[in-house]
Amino acid sequence: MDQNYKTVLLFGPPGVGKGTQGHILKHVPGFFHVSTGEIFRNLDIESDIGKVFYQYSSRGELVPDDVTIKIWHQHVYANTILGLYKPRQDILVLDGLPRSVNQAKMLFRYIDVLKIVHLVCKDKEQLFERILKRAMKSNRVDDAKHDVIRRRWEVYENETYPVLSYYPPELVVEIDAMQSPAVVVGAVLDVVAPLQSKHFENPLGK
Ligand code: ADP
Repeated sequence: MDQNYKTVLLFGPPGVGKGTQGHILKHVPGFFHVSTGEIFRNLDIESDIGKVFYQYSSRGELVPDDVTIKIWHQHVYANTILGLYKPRQDILVLDGLPRSVNQAKMLFRYIDVLKIVHLVCKDKEQLFERILKRAMKSNRVDDAKHDVIRRRWEVYENETYPVLSYYPPELVVEIDAMQSPAVVVGAVLDVVAPLQSKHFENPLGK
């Protein structure tokens, strides 16, 4: 049976800090963070899906939509079974999904989007710098080469950015991602905290 997971989307270009915000929210009770990039990176690189991921991500391309949605759904479902994600109590935080309008359409039957946190950075070069630094620290093949980063940007602009117009504009809240980290965290919490009390009478499930 399909579920309407109450969901917040973390949206923005590569390197803007979606993952950082997602990791912070993960530690707040009542939020369950899922990053498709992370799910993919944790796959065994020798597995069939691991190979598909490498083939696309090493070129800065998106993994095909059907593979992405399937593996995302399996991950979420497995976490409900394990009791790590409780759809009746937790807000699902999606980081890096949907990344195309087609993915947004495929997710329609599963998620009820409450808000979209759009992390904005007008300075592309600053983001490129961040991505390169991160690549050196965390050994990410998709980020280590300049042409791959540029391709990721094109993909973002052509395929991912249009996702914003798929959803009602009143759901979108823009946050300047270049403010100091604590200010960005505060701004994100200001958006998501009211959702907890509005949608879940008893957020901690007690
Ligand atoms: P970033 O945080 O830098 O934007 P991610 O870690 O989210 O990057 O993603 C890394 C790679 O994983 C992407 O370049 C892409 O190949 C693949 N990927 C992640 N999410 C998706 C998605 N929703 N659809 C297709 N491919 C994805």
